[in-house]
Amino acid sequence: MEKKELSNEPVLLPSILMVDDDPTVIQVLSKCLSGIGRLRFATSGAMALRLASADVPDLVLLDAEMPGMTGFEVWQAMLEEPRLCEVPVIFVTSHSDELMEEQGLGLGAADFIAKPIRPAIVAARVRTQLRLKRALDDLKRLASVDGLTQCANRRVLDERLAAEWSRAARGQRALSIAMVDVDHFKKFNDHYGHLRGDEALIAVAQVLRRCACRPGDLVARYGGEEFALLLPETDEKGVQVVAAGIQAQLQALNFPHAMASLGRLSVSIGTASFDESSEGWTSVSAMMQFEGTPPAGLTVERLLAFADRALYAAKQAGRARSSHERIDLRSEA
Ligand code: GH3
Ligand code: MG
Ligand code: MG
Ligand code: MG
Repeated sequence: MEKKELSNEPVLLPSILMVDDDPTVIQVLSKCLSGIGRLRFATSGAMALRLASADVPDLVLLDAEMPGMTGFEVWQAMLEEPRLCEVPVIFVTSHSDELMEEQGLGLGAADFIAKPIRPAIVAARVRTQLRLKRALDDLKRLASVDGLTQCANRRVLDERLAAEWSRAARGQRALSIAMVDVDHFKKFNDHYGHLRGDEALIAVAQVLRRCACRPGDLVARYGGEEFALLLPETDEKGVQVVAAGIQAQLQALNFPHAMASLGRLSVSIGTASFDESSEGWTSVSAMMQFEGTPPAGLTVERLLAFADRALYAAKQAGRARSSHERIDLRSEA
């Protein structure tokens, strides 16, 4: 999500998956849609699901009647798959079955096209659906990405924090957080101006994304010149390695900051982990097994509070460094 940028991205044609057990229909559709999208085709429901899962399409044209899995069954399977459930589907039916159309549209199918296929109509309807899909994708991105740094925004962070926390507590999986705050940034702005300040934030964000780049990692702008990293399946050793990487890369970047004693831009980092080293991990584990819920008061805010405390310690110790707080799950923090 955060890798795509609205600008500077090569314009890629949308991807369309055509599904029909009759190869001649696929041929006709291909002719109608060439130039509108990157086309792939499947001649069975199983093949369609395989292709769709391997590379999620922007639109599916789905034959309603197929031997084996029917179009409706394929769609049902797509709706149960989180990555595919929002892909728009246009049904292609061999006769205009009004009841089927009524039910399908009622359940959220994007459109219905009746065979025999009339190329101009297919092309027009497909274009309309792709326009809607593109607009929706853009809106979703705008609602989840910080415009300046292209990191996830606070809303996404809050959602992911809650989800990852309950996953970690339920499954006894490690989870780490790093809070990153740019040092002496007010002085930076005062000296270089806000525009240069913005460039500095973009540069820091790029370093953070390079260092927290595993598939589940999330880099979010927490607010102002502060960022939060959410690192699932990462213990206290792991998060400290990530923090050290950030410090090393910023040092190598050597982004000038004349008002700082180091002469370059630096950050302070506070880290905290929910893992085997946490005090009370075993009792939490037992409680989760018997009660199914974590102990009262054990919320993700506790983890954040410890990371914040670590960040404060790093600032106090002289900035441009990282500090780790071992969390105590037994007491109210
Ligand atoms: P410390 O080392 O203790 O963190 O000091 P600091 O100056 O970085 O911290 P302080 O909280 O005093 O100042 C944060 C500054 O970050 C002030 C604010 O103007 C600046 N800032 C916040 N958001 C942005 C932004 O989007 N762009 C720019 N250019 N500056 C920002
Ligand atoms: Mg058929
Ligand atoms: Mg700061
Ligand atoms: Mg700050």
